[in-house]
Order: sequence, then C-alpha cells, then structure tokens
Amino acid sequence: MTNITDLTVAAIRDGVAAGTFSAVEVAEAFNARVAAAQALNAFIVTTPDAALDAARKVDGMRAAGNALGKLAGVPIGMKDLFATRGVQTTAASHILEGFTPQYESTVSQKLWDAGAGMLGKLNLDQFAMGSSNETSYFGNVISPWRRSDGGNTAMAPGGSSGGSSAAIAARLCPAATGTDTGGSIRQPAAFTGISGIKPTYGRCSRWGIVAFASSLDQAGPMARDVRDCAIMLEVMAGFDPKDSTSLDLAVPAWEAGLNGDMKGKKVGIPKEYRVDGLDADVAKSWDDGIAWLKDAGAEIVEISLPHTKYALPAYYIIAPAEASSNLARYDGVRYGLRDLPDGANLQDMYAATRAAGFGAEVKRRILIGTYVLSAGFYDAYYTQAQKVRTLIARDFELAFQHCDVILAPTAPTAAFGLGEKSADPLAMYLNDVFAVPASLAGLPAMSVPAGLNREGLPLGLQIVGRPFDEQGVLNAGLAIEARAGFTAKPEQWW
Ligand code: GLN
Repeated sequence: MTNITDLTVAAIRDGVAAGTFSAVEVAEAFNARVAAAQALNAFIVTTPDAALDAARKVDGMRAAGNALGKLAGVPIGMKDLFATRGVQTTAASHILEGFTPQYESTVSQKLWDAGAGMLGKLNLDQFAMGSSNETSYFGNVISPWRRSDGGNTAMAPGGSSGGSSAAIAARLCPAATGTDTGGSIRQPAAFTGISGIKPTYGRCSRWGIVAFASSLDQAGPMARDVRDCAIMLEVMAGFDPKDSTSLDLAVPAWEAGLNGDMKGKKVGIPKEYRVDGLDADVAKSWDDGIAWLKDAGAEIVEISLPHTKYALPAYYIIAPAEASSNLARYDGVRYGLRDLPDGANLQDMYAATRAAGFGAEVKRRILIGTYVLSAGFYDAYYTQAQKVRTLIARDFELAFQHCDVILAPTAPTAAFGLGEKSADPLAMYLNDVFAVPASLAGLPAMSVPAGLNREGLPLGLQIVGRPFDEQGVLNAGLAIEARAGFTAKPEQWW
C-alpha cells in the first residue's frame, strides 16, 4: 500500500470510512512525519495530541455505527492566523507570543465538527504580510523544493501561507487552511506545486481570524488537488452571523458538482497580463493552460482588464490602511507581549510594546497605512485607491459578459531563493501583481499546478471566476489538473 502520508484528503476520508485503516493510524503517521520535518520550520506549534484525540473520536463513532463527518479522520494543518481555543495563536508575531485564545474561529470549529484533527499551527508571514514567509518572527519556512541545479539554496515557500504550502508539499499534512488578502493562498500554492482556492469574499467567516485587511481577508483551503480543495471548502464555508460581511448563501455541493468538461464554456485571457518581459517559462505554462482548456472543450477569448496596472498600487494603499487600523489593538494591555520599562507611563508602554512586538514589515505597513489615512492625504491616497478598486471590479464585471472564467498565471515567476528579494520591498510586492486584482474585486480564484520550470520548480495557473461561482473555478481547475498530469514532488532532503 502507498504510505498513508501520500494519500489525498478524499482517499483518507474514504479509507477511514471503509475501515481500510483507522483514523488513529492516520494521525500517528502524520504526527511522525511532522515531527521528523523540523528543518522545514513549517509549524510554530505542533499539537499531536489534538490530532490523536480527534482521531480516537472518529474511530469510536465508526465503531458505534454513527454517521461520520465530511472530514472524518483527516488530520490537517491550521494556519496560525486562526484562533484555536487553548492553543497559542500568534499570527507569527512576537506581539502575540504566548496568546492563548479562549475561543475557536468559526472556520476551524467547522473543520473540527466535520471530524478533522489538528496537527499544529502553521508558520506564516507576520500578520500575513509578505510573499515569502521571511517576515515571520519564528523564522522563515523553508520550501521542500530545491532548484535542480544541484545547489542547496533554501527556497521560499511563498507567502503568507508558506507554512501551509510547505507542509502540504512535503506531505506533512494532506490539507491546510490558508488565508488570502492579496494572494496568500494562491501564490504559495503555485510556489510549491499544490492547489488552493480563495472563495468569493464572504464565503468563509472571518470570525476568529486575526485581521489584516478586513475588506480583503478571506480564508480558503490548500491541498494537493482540486477535489480536496472542494471537500475542504464545503466544510469551511457558510453563513456566520458573527461576521458582518458573511454571505448569507447556501453552501453548494462543490465536490459532487466537479466536472472538468468545459464544453460551452468561454475562457477569457486578459491581454494586460501579458506584460513585457514575462518570464518565458511562465508564458509557456500559460499557453499550455490555454491548450488544455481548449482540449477540454472551452472556447478561448481575449478579454481586457484595462485597470490592471493600478491594482498593485491600490492594494498597497488599501491593505496597509486597514492593517494600521486593525493592528491598533495590539497595545500591550489586552493580549500577548507587554513591554513596561521602569517608570514608564501608559504611552511609553504602548510605544515600547509595539516597537518590540512588531517586525519591520508590519511596522512599514502601519506607517504607510497611517500616512494614507491622515487628514491631509486621505483623499489623495485612500479615496483614490478606493475609486481604483471600483474600476477594477468593473473591469471584471465587463469581462465576465464575454467569458465564464479567466485564466492567467498565478505569479510572475516560480519560487525564488530565501533572501533574494527580502531587501527590496517593491520587488517582493511585485510578486502579487497577478493575484491582487481578484482580491480587490472579491472574486473566487484558485491556483493549480501546471508543471515545472527549467529549474525544476513548480509553476501555477490561476483561474478567476464570477462572484459565487466557485464551482466554475474548481471545474476549470479540474480540467487543467487532468491534462497537466502534475505528479512531481520534492525529493526528501530534510
Ligand atoms: N503578499 C501580499 C502582502 O504582502 C498578500 C498577503 C496576503 O494575501 N495575506 O500583502
């Protein structure tokens, strides 16, 4: 039999239900693999007992003949941005070190209710700000992938959900949660040869997720294939009165609706994404994707998203603006770190705590956000960026009059080496260029593996859909997956 840790979510679920193996056997196999992979630094905290407890419960239910949940016996990783009751939740920041929530996020609770178990809390960019996992206070995650040149350069797993992507690619967990504010599910998925979907804004409750930019933040699943993403998303999504922007819509049966036949579907290719100097391997994988979707029966049409070039600047105004407001709550009074120098007054404590607790990138965003929201500059920056956001959303609305889904690369390049971009924030921000427009428009978007570049590193293709049409996105993803035949996995060195 294949190793349990090589199985997909669907195979584990079905195997547990059929009694091929027990949920405890599955949890033990993944716990052992997690424990042996510390070199990847994918987890901030591991919770082997939580995984075992959940598994024992599932085995007991099965023995008693009770109905099993949709994720019964499936151990998963939880991005350390989701509040988990009794388990440290840090957002990978020193300022939250030692914070143990007394409540569970809605999304994680739904996963546990469906029979999933927690292997641990996954590392990420601090407060989900970053594209390489290098902003984590707990050290960067190292991708299990390496360039095929024989060198041992440590590669970025993408970010901010880099612990999630690395852990799945290294088979430390079959699936994990991610969050995506401006690409943080899709870009790390692309960098590590896995799949991930950011649903329509509002599908997954934000309650209990550490807030970055509330009008953009969306949770979503990361897993090895499209079916597993559908299974996970079905459990994670759903209306939640505790989140004022939660969508009051029924959750469709996405797994049952999977169908990679694209006959009668139109796929839009945004001409503005064909930027000058686009990486040759990325351009080729995009062409492959076009050919695969044609082969699946789709008609390919050129579309225009004319405001694309303003998306990144608008994002890097709106996201920091919201972050500066959201992060005002970390003041040393209520949770996490408190730095109280001798003889300090309250103001000094705020300043000392925030100076010591936030990393450099987080401080940069708070400064930018505070600046663009300040009295004399609000209209010039923030209001202007909001107008651009509306125009970008309108671009998509018009484009979807001519097509059902949009196909584009997920990121402008494959993974880069750790340290190769960290000194230049703009170079790092440019990574998000293809991911951010769908975030600003609140649209469902997914990344699926498309192949390897000439350095032997994975490349991802992105599918963007109409609001609420996760099914259309998943189905196009499935059509690509079936033709890409992506089976590459990183050679184990850790
Ligand atoms: N890389 C982007 C940023 O740094 C997106 C992060 C995210 O989606 N959380 O803001």
